[in-house]
Amino acid sequence: MDSLLPPKYSPKIKYIDEPLSDDTLAKHKLNLVIANRKSEKTLLRQCPRGPELLLQYQESEESGQASAPPLLHLSPTKQSGALLLIFVNTRRSRFEMLQTAAKLWKEAAKHQASSIALSTLGFEPEESHALLDALLAAVLAGNAQLPSFKSKADKHPLKSLTLLHGSASRYATTLATQAGNHLARWLTTLPPNKLDCVRYRQALQELAGHHGWQSEFLDISNLKKQKAGAFLAVSRANAHSQAGIMRLSYRGQSHKNKQRYKVTLIGKGICFDTGGINLKSHKGMYDMHTDMQGSAVAVGTLLALSQLKVPFDIECWLALTENEIGPNAYRPQEVITAANGVTIQVVHSDAEGRMVLADTLALAARNKPDLMIDFATLTGACVSALTERMSGAFSNRFQLRDSIEAAGRNSGERVWSFPMDSDFDTELDSPLADIMQCTMDNKGDHILAARFLNRFVPEDIPWVHIDLSSASKTGGLAHIPTEITGFGIRWAVEFITRHTFN
Ligand SMILES: [Zn+2]
Repeated sequence: MDSLLPPKYSPKIKYIDEPLSDDTLAKHKLNLVIANRKSEKTLLRQCPRGPELLLQYQESEESGQASAPPLLHLSPTKQSGALLLIFVNTRRSRFEMLQTAAKLWKEAAKHQASSIALSTLGFEPEESHALLDALLAAVLAGNAQLPSFKSKADKHPLKSLTLLHGSASRYATTLATQAGNHLARWLTTLPPNKLDCVRYRQALQELAGHHGWQSEFLDISNLKKQKAGAFLAVSRANAHSQAGIMRLSYRGQSHKNKQRYKVTLIGKGICFDTGGINLKSHKGMYDMHTDMQGSAVAVGTLLALSQLKVPFDIECWLALTENEIGPNAYRPQEVITAANGVTIQVVHSDAEGRMVLADTLALAARNKPDLMIDFATLTGACVSALTERMSGAFSNRFQLRDSIEAAGRNSGERVWSFPMDSDFDTELDSPLADIMQCTMDNKGDHILAARFLNRFVPEDIPWVHIDLSSASKTGGLAHIPTEITGFGIRWAVEFITRHTFN
């Protein structure tokens, strides 16, 4: 594997405005149908291969499984590809739609079909589109290959995907967010001896070249000049001096005479987190190559927005380093000065995420973006509060709260807002410095981490912090079948493209 980027592959996607028919069944090896649960038998009668479906439906009803909507499955014949049909109730949430689509894909994947048709049966156009969109997302996510170092590589069996009753423009966002999600999951899955912060930087530079983004790397000597002591404290124990902050820029094509807006995405990119001198346990350290997922989600969001050719500028600031143990490692009780002059009393070397983000936020803010969003696998406390099903959201603008959560409901990547009241700051009062890095216990650490980061964001810049508690979930989440979820890109694209700049 020379390049650390995902190989170029995507099934050919076709859109035809036709109902499900014997003809479409014959043309595709596998046909996936989501049908309205409201009128099950009537719909089955109208469906091609109706009598066979009806028989299977009645059998499942008689066997007493009718409370859970049956998944009907017809094998291929000479005249028809295989058919998988699932019933759903109307007015499901976006998350539930994605979940249903994943259920259907789980069965579909067993077919290893080279051509698949997606369709719905018995819904109003808007709901039909939303369901088809969820199914498309699930098929693409399920089919996306992740890094493998097995001597025999798996091949992509899926060559073409046909959406009945669809048009390309309606699915552009889903295609873009899936490309971003795949990139994020791909990078995060790479083992730590393949994706260290040195090769991560190279992969990002290569990616920038492919997409025409500008790239700049703030290396250690540059960060020393900028007095980014909080970042440098974390990178101090690295065996190399190649850590730094990667800055990628996309320039949006905005209309003449229109004000240009700039969104800055920030990501925590700890390529391996040992915990530092406060070393993690072996169980706690096991997955710590994934501690760079925040940066992968930020760059995945940039990829999606750039593919959608959004009209505003985007900057992506990625804090890339390991958090190692060694004689140079930063220690509890050290006092560190960040790039904005704020002094920090160190408490715990494993709270390195907020240290590297502190300087990255402070430096990125100098370019005066109109909106800043950071992503980080930051605290265990956020997982304790929400489990891995949702991520935590924090903002220095209370009025953004509704749109932050609405973007979660609309995208199916659900986020939940936590308080940002300033009186939490007293918990971080330090006898020695301007602020404590964290407290000695874990109480409300997700809120305190957000309040800590708030010290590095100028008040006049609207800022959202996403604590990625749903970055990893056993068994996957919504339409994502893998433990590494790449959570955040659907949310971010929905939130940013609906944001009103002023
Ligand atoms: Zn850590």
